[in-house]
Amino acid sequence: MLIKDKNKRFKRLRELRKTPGKRYKRFREWQKEPHHVKPMSPEEHVCPTCNKRYVGNYCPRCGQSSMIGRYSFKNAFLLFIDVWGLGNRGMFRTIRDFFLRPGYMIGDYLRGMQMAYFPPFKMLFLICALGLLVDTGMNIKGINRFELYMQQEKESSEKRQASAQTDNSLTVTGKEASVIASKTIYDIENKAGENNQLAVLIALLLFSGPFYLLFRHCPAIPDLRFSECFVAMVYIVNMVLICTIIPSFFCFSFKAEARFDMVAALLAIIPIKQLSGYSYVGTVWRMIVALIPFGLIAFFLYFSVAMFVFISAHPELLK
Ligand SMILES: [Zn+2]
Repeated sequence: MLIKDKNKRFKRLRELRKTPGKRYKRFREWQKEPHHVKPMSPEEHVCPTCNKRYVGNYCPRCGQSSMIGRYSFKNAFLLFIDVWGLGNRGMFRTIRDFFLRPGYMIGDYLRGMQMAYFPPFKMLFLICALGLLVDTGMNIKGINRFELYMQQEKESSEKRQASAQTDNSLTVTGKEASVIASKTIYDIENKAGENNQLAVLIALLLFSGPFYLLFRHCPAIPDLRFSECFVAMVYIVNMVLICTIIPSFFCFSFKAEARFDMVAALLAIIPIKQLSGYSYVGTVWRMIVALIPFGLIAFFLYFSVAMFVFISAHPELLK
């Protein structure tokens, strides 16, 4: 009797130990499963606007949703967020899937499930707008963090210029050059900060070229198109940008924020792995290789802007 009891208890313990593994397995299966649309109810509706009788979610004549009934707080809230274009197309599902199955979600979107998810470019612009709001005052301290940051950059740029002026090892031209270089770096940073959506899109274009070359024959989507690759990148950038709003909102120090943003950018490995179907090792080395030309092009652009500013400040050099 006692032994039987013990055996039972052991069995239960063993099962308990297995449960987290089982749960994880079920979670992994759920992650890979595409989003299911509920079957349509056969219920007949009468459109309140045009009196048409129909079955389905929308009136075939005027397009009014069959969900519209009498006013409720839920309806009012949905209309309220619809002002910013957030009401339709699973905004909340997109955010949930962003965190739980980002790469698989992007795959679903690329395979044509467009109505199920929030469109990527619209999302990018909304997230950038939200990020700007948070940076310029909508945070827990209510301060303009962007201005504060640029103020700090200005001060350190001026410090660098001053130290170049007093550096006796430099010639006069050398002094001027380092002052201009320091100014140019500040100007570029300022411009990139003001037009951050554009900066993000340019950076994306630079990265997606080599990225596409390395991922176009990936196991999950063996005939990946460049346009699809670009859309996928926009989604991934959205994911990273959502994460980077967190430290701004909670007013981390700029150093801590930079570290947090780095980790957020590293998280991009997860959706890329899920989307491509490569292993983690396969994903990481391809991402690193894709970053090399990106770094070179970015450096070249930076260098040519600096040269342009320098030469336009010193036209006598060309004579
Ligand atoms: Zn109607």
